Parts: sequence; structure tokens; C-alpha cells
Amino acid sequence: MHREPTMAAAKSSSTIELERGDGTPGALVDPFGRAITYLRVSVTDRCDFRCVYCMSEHMTFLPKAELLSLEELDRLCSAFMKKGVSKLRLTGGEPLVRRGIMTLVSSLSRHLQSGALSELTLTTNGSQLQKYATELKASGIRRINVSLDTLDAGKFRAITRWGDLGNVLAGIDAAQAAGLQIKINAVALKGVNDDEIPRLLEWAHGRGMDLTVIEVMPLGDVDESRLDQYLPLSIIRARLAERYTLDDIDYQTGGPARYVRVKETGGRLGFITPLTHNFCESCNRVRVTCTGTLFMCLGQNDAADLRRPLRSSESDEPLNAAIDEAISRKPKGHDFVIDRRHRVSALPRHMSTTGG
Ligand code: SAM
Repeated sequence: MHREPTMAAAKSSSTIELERGDGTPGALVDPFGRAITYLRVSVTDRCDFRCVYCMSEHMTFLPKAELLSLEELDRLCSAFMKKGVSKLRLTGGEPLVRRGIMTLVSSLSRHLQSGALSELTLTTNGSQLQKYATELKASGIRRINVSLDTLDAGKFRAITRWGDLGNVLAGIDAAQAAGLQIKINAVALKGVNDDEIPRLLEWAHGRGMDLTVIEVMPLGDVDESRLDQYLPLSIIRARLAERYTLDDIDYQTGGPARYVRVKETGGRLGFITPLTHNFCESCNRVRVTCTGTLFMCLGQNDAADLRRPLRSSESDEPLNAAIDEAISRKPKGHDFVIDRRHRVSALPRHMSTTGG
């Protein structure tokens, strides 16, 4: 059930708190009139892979006390849902390596049953899917995103440093056998997998999975230069258009991808182009890190600490106030730049911190 705000009432100069159709106060609308209905929560900063564009090989992870507990994560997500968030994505790090993750998933699934959530989903590298696919489906998860940049076992190892392609493919098999719909996300890496996109496309579409190609974003210090990795998707699209008929379609998942239908395969292909095309106008999302820091924009540094209000009181009042105040500061958009003069990352934090 998607709840649209119906009646505006000014709360503060820059935050408007709306009444939802059921009379419950609290839907979130930012200063640019965008309703915030989508929350992405990073449940851990840890990962069992070390993808070259995402992490350095020797990462220092946070001490456990810094992380929100599973109960705190549940409370925080539930507070957002009371404020009209209807779509929740768990991410990381690798969400399925967080100890007790299925306790959180099955607890959050009560919001699917109540109708507060229209979708509970997750983004995963697929390494743990053989273990968890059946439980995920049983908890009400219908669709998941699996990150996979190549079907070449050697390249897969080189990109992920620690990953095993066979294990991930077996995980995908298990997820499909369990009835989960899968979208494959592939980051386009210059000179690494750009020649493989047609193969990925035919493989994904042949198995009934959508494919989304993502431009590499300048997040966090990694051991390699972004310039060496960066490839504008306009080039990928032009190359694909020489082989396939790409028909623009109006398909929307509430995310930033723009989709085409590939006539020859019948499948959907998405492009996420944070650098070559700004997708901020329709942004409906915010992100919370595993330490309870709320980022109103993936590409900006401004953030709000939700852990302190969460831990300061058993009542949700301080938490709700902190959320409202933060949303009143959600910026209009981001401004990623990868260029030769600025060879440093545009933002110091890794995707695994903010949650991809
Ligand atoms: N471990 C999970 C996974 O692999 O999907 C979830 C977290 S991962 C950080 C989420 C997504 O972010 C992955 O698809 C990954 O490829 C992508 N990602 C990480 N760093 C990125 C970057 N610098 N630019 C673009 N995508 C990135």
C-alpha cells in the first residue's frame, strides 16, 4: 500500500509534515517537495569481498559497539515507516554477513503484513544466497539485487579480490529456485568488463533477470585511480545500440535507473548514470549507515546522527525530531566529479559505509 500525503500543514519553516490518508501524522517531505518514501539501511560495514572500486584490500572496520544493534535497526526502520517510508532496502557492506540478519529480516517483515511496507528487499553480492534464499523468500522478500560485474571467473576474482564466481552463481540458482526475482547490477569498469556487457545482458535476460549497468562513482579511497575505472555509460549504450534495438520504456522501480527494453532478448536493461546524468530531481530516498548516521544524499557530506537520539530515550520522540530536522536539510542534489585535476575521491566515505 503506497501512502501519498494528502494534507499539508506547516511544521517548521523548511520541513512540511503531512497527514497521511489514514490520519497518522508524519509523512516526510523535503524542502523541494519530494516525499521521502524509500529508505536504504546499511546493516554492516563488513563484507566478504573487497571489490577494487569499493574498498581497499586492507579495510579497517568499525568496532561492534559503534554499530546499531539489530533491535536498534528495527526501531529505526520502524520510525521511518511511521513517517511514510514504504520501501526498505537492506544493504551494506554485505548485509547477509551480519550475524543474526535473518532475525532482523523476519522482524521487519511484520510491516509487510501490516501493509506499512510495500516492499522489503536487499542488495547482496550473492555469496550467502545458497544459505539464505529460502528463508528470505519465506520472510516475504520478493525481489533482490545481486551485484555481479563479470561472468569470467578470473576477472571476478580480480575485481572482488576475495570472491568466488561459482559460489555466487550457485547462490543465484538457489534464489531463483526459491522464487526470488533477481536484478543483476553490474558496475561498468573501463578495460575490465566493458566488452562483456552483451554477454552479461544475454545471460541475465536468458534467465529472466533484469540487468542494470552502473557508472563507477567517486566514493571512498580505494587503491586504484577512479579515472582508470571510469567509463561513461553513454559509450556503453552507444555500443549496445549497434547490436541491439533499445526501446525506451517508462518502467520505474522508484530508483534512479532509466530503463530500455532490449527487443532481441525481450528483457529490461537499466542505466544508472550519476556522473553523466543527474537523477536528483525525483530523489525519494535517504540512507542510514550501520552506525545510525542519516545521509540525506549519497553524494553530499551533510549527515545527521540518529544513534544518539535512538539511544538517549526509550521514547521515539527525540528520534522523530532528529529525522524531521534532517529531512528539512535534504539538499537538492549532488555533484560528483571525476576529472584530471581532482585525482582524489569526491567523497571520503566508501559505498560500503553509506550503503549501495
Ligand atoms: N555487498 C552488497 C553488494 O555487493 O551488492 C551491497 C553493498 S555494495 C556497496 C552495493 C553496490 O554498490 C554494489 O552493486 C557495488 O557494485 C556498488 N558500488 C560500490 N562502490 C561503488 C562505486 N564506487 N561506484 C559505483 N558502484 C559502487
